[in-house]
Amino acid sequence: MITNHIRERIHTATTSHALKLYLCTKCEWSDDTYNLIDWEHLEYSVKSRYKATKSGFARTIKFMHDIQNTGSQKRKFTMNRTTAPTASGMCPCCMLNEETTMHLYQCQAPEMLKLLTEEIRDLEDALQRRHLPSDMWRAMEAGITHYRSRGEYSAYIPATPRADRAYCNQTLINWDQFLKGRLAKDWGLAMSDVYASDAGLNYTESRRRFSAVLISQLWSVYDKLWSLRCEKLHDDTNIHALSNMELDRRIRYFYANKTTLFDGGDFDRFHLGLEHTLSLDKSRKKGWIQTLDGSLKSTTKSRKTFLRHMKPLHHYFQPAQNSAED
Ligand SMILES: [Zn+2]
Repeated sequence: MITNHIRERIHTATTSHALKLYLCTKCEWSDDTYNLIDWEHLEYSVKSRYKATKSGFARTIKFMHDIQNTGSQKRKFTMNRTTAPTASGMCPCCMLNEETTMHLYQCQAPEMLKLLTEEIRDLEDALQRRHLPSDMWRAMEAGITHYRSRGEYSAYIPATPRADRAYCNQTLINWDQFLKGRLAKDWGLAMSDVYASDAGLNYTESRRRFSAVLISQLWSVYDKLWSLRCEKLHDDTNIHALSNMELDRRIRYFYANKTTLFDGGDFDRFHLGLEHTLSLDKSRKKGWIQTLDGSLKSTTKSRKTFLRHMKPLHHYFQPAQNSAED
């Protein structure tokens, strides 16, 4: 939990030797690769994020360390549970892949693809306002595109030596790390040269400002993707998008919890038996689930009403009156 000793934690998170070892092992970086990363401006951005929004800060840290509550995490934590089914690890948007933190960038659900494409366009706009030259943008865009489509990074050759340096070093660090804000130093170094060589630019432009804009924009892409994903996760009406496996998971859950979830009046919905219900075709399964979803809602509602009208226990069990003989 990232709730207290925050200054200390930020400091530790960005400088400690143990964390360096941890990250090098996790990300398969050599010492040299670790040193390619622009830690200075990342630390600056993390601090600004903390000052700006505490909940946003927590989300960003979870994102950077892959501890966001994704399907994959949920499945891990519910695998040995006996009172409810193992949670689905599937992405709630495409229902095709196990959901990890970085799956958001590779998800093939049309809405996710559309949102990410728009966000990358916004990123381009924001960086153009900071005078990012087109050769640098092309290289950045190619890296992101290859990461999205799991393409071959060597298939793209940047147009200039500066773009090539940044692109190749970022590929060593990895492009998932770029999306998390762990940038190759070369992006910022190249921008220092751009600002220094163009006397017409506003004197307030700086490498720090460029890096901060880039990092905060990348984090904001993640925030938008995550929030669309959360909307999908809590949308019960998308039953038609569910895969057969997910339908079976729900059917099993209803059967296993029949008596706790439903009242006697709904039990005849289960007369087919589990195996038979699982063997129905997809549209009949959906119909079955939809009916029970409806029953579940009304059962939950009536149980709540019942509880609300129930008087405290001592109302039904009055303490015995002390008799005169005691
Ligand atoms: Zn997906």
